[in-house]
Formats: sequence, structure tokens, C-alpha cells
Amino acid sequence: MAGLYIHIPFCKRRCRYCDFFSTTLLERREEYVQAILNEICLRRDEASEPVRTIYIGGGTPSLLTAEQVQKILQTIGTDEKEEVTMEANPGDLTPEYLRAIREAGIQRLSIGIQSFNDKLLELLGRRHNAAQALEAVKMARNAGFNNISIDLMYALPTQDMALWQKDIEQALQLGVQHISSYGLMYEEGTPLTALRDNNQLTPVDDDTENMMYDYLCHQLKQAGFVHYEVSNFALPGYEAKHNSSYWNGTPYIGIGAGAHSFVGNVRSWNPSNLEVYVRGIMAQDLQRESEQLTKKDIYNERIMLGLRTCRGLSIDETPIKPRQNPDKNTRQIRDRYETITRLCDEGLLRQTDDRRIVATQEGLHVLNRIITELMIE
Ligand code: SF4
Repeated sequence: MAGLYIHIPFCKRRCRYCDFFSTTLLERREEYVQAILNEICLRRDEASEPVRTIYIGGGTPSLLTAEQVQKILQTIGTDEKEEVTMEANPGDLTPEYLRAIREAGIQRLSIGIQSFNDKLLELLGRRHNAAQALEAVKMARNAGFNNISIDLMYALPTQDMALWQKDIEQALQLGVQHISSYGLMYEEGTPLTALRDNNQLTPVDDDTENMMYDYLCHQLKQAGFVHYEVSNFALPGYEAKHNSSYWNGTPYIGIGAGAHSFVGNVRSWNPSNLEVYVRGIMAQDLQRESEQLTKKDIYNERIMLGLRTCRGLSIDETPIKPRQNPDKNTRQIRDRYETITRLCDEGLLRQTDDRRIVATQEGLHVLNRIITELMIE
């Protein structure tokens, strides 16, 4: 199967921590939707396998009208789709809108809540408040959505363990099926990073961030969630199918400005510029850039993506075991095998009964370091 990602790059205003490609030129939404409808038609046959999952992400897809969402899904076709997800901002949702997008074919909602604390939401520059977040989930459920994901952020400035515990408690009370949770990253060029660099805010220290993460994992596990990816938790059967395709190497097509695609070991991407993108589509010249992944890239990608998941990496399928395949039997690979043995001894990785290696809870704290150690240069 293949996945289809549609990027909607519009935001009412920029959040203070965000460095994603998005624009506040809301007046260009209709023109942009026309462009993505054209791109869908132009690239219809590109996926070598049938498209089974659709993900409309952003930006803020809930800034589209329900009619625009419907047009996009009609153009793709929603027959035999296993999962159709749309991201939404709590401040945009109304019962009418939710019913309309559900009728249009959206099966799963991913609501960007981030926190239930108004002060923290304000600090992040989010445009919704906690009451709207709670109401959004309630309305979504009343509109018939029974597969709801929420995003939560931790390690926020001024957030302590007590505030984080309250957020998790609140999230669990909502009865949602999926939770994605990320520690705040200070991205270059964002207002929040400027505040940190001018000593106008104090980042949460590493030990507290790790404690917050461990608390999250523990509480969600207790509540019956499966920790299936480093930042993702789902009730059994509600793991995100579309996102899982990124982690397990399934091909995906990305439609829209800045969207990435991955088909047959070729990664390609559309221009991250609304003007260039729309002009290119109208001229039927997509202006896409691409790169063919080398064996080394594929190996590194498997390490990076595999170790993020609870299934980890297969020792037999991944070129980490020496003397099994002459191609893989290089000095670097042998070094990696020794590194894995050492990381297991240090308690950062463990080997499962079915011959896979998986990051331990301790290892998840330093996952980037582990991945870097195992990558080939
Ligand atoms: S709504 Fe999302 S994409 Fe838009 S600015 Fe905020 S974090 Fe970035």
C-alpha cells in the first residue's frame, strides 16, 4: 500500500516555536486548493501501489472550508481507504464543520491541543485556549468521530512536573484513542529561541525533561496505551496507519507546497514557496527536486526510523550483523555490530526474543545519540 499526504500551509498566525513551512496569506486558500487538485490529477499514477491512507496536514487544514476538504477527497477518491486523517486547530471547530468533514470522508481527527494550561498556550503563541480544546474533543465525539488523536507538548518554559501531570490527567479524561507528545524544540529563528537566547526565558533542564517523558510513558501505559513510536501512543488497534508508513518504508506521495514524497528509493519534494508552487502547477511544471537514496542512505534511514518504533530493528533484515551478506560485510558494519553489543551492555538497547533490537526507556532519553552512533558516514 501507499500513503498520500496533502499539505495545507495556512495558519492564522505563526506560533512562537514553529519553524514549519506555513503562510498567513489566507486569501490564497482557494487558489491553492485548485493547485493541489491539479497536482493530484497530474500525479495520480505515480504510486506503484494503491493508496490506502490519506493524511491532510499543515499548517492548519481546518482553515479550509468543509467544501474545499470535500473537493480534495472527491478528487482523490475515498473508496477502500483504511485511514483518512485531518489535522485541526481546536479554535476552528464547530459541530456543523465537524459533521460536514466527516461526511466528506474524514475518519480520523488529529487535534493540535498542545496543553490544557492557558498560560502555556499563550506562551507558545497558540490561538486557542484550554476550554476550546476540551470543547473541540467533545464536539468531535458528538459528530461521530471515534478515532481522535491529540498533540501534547512538554518541557515548556515555566512548566513543572505538577503542571505536566495535570495535562496528562486531563488528556486521559478525554477518552481519546491516540496521543502524540513532543518535547519543545528550540528551532533556529523562532521567537521562542530568541527569548531563550536573550535570557528572557529558562528552558526546562534535561533531567526534568526526561522525568516528564518517563511520566508520560508510564501513565499512558497504565491507561492501556501502546507506546508504539517514541512520541506516539495509541489504544490497541488505533496506531496511526499513515504515520506508520513513514517509519516502515512504505511509499508515500506528498501533494502541496513543501510536501515530500518517497517512492522506489527516490525522495522528492515540492518547492516550499506558495507562489513558486502554484505557478509551477498551473504551468504543469512541478519544479520538484529529488534524490536517489544510496545503500548508505537506506541503511541510515532504517536505523533512524526503526529505532524510533517499539518493533525496533530486525537483526536479520538490517545490515548490522557481520558475515551474513558480503555486501554488508564492511569494516563500518562490523563496527556498528560491536557498538550495538556495547549499547546493549550499557542498558540503552535490548535484544528481543525474535531477534530485534529495541531502545530501552533509558535509551529513548538519548535516542539521537544512539542513532548517530549507529549510522554509517
Ligand atoms: S498552527 Fe502549526 S504550523 Fe501553524 S504556526 Fe502553529 S505550529 Fe506552526
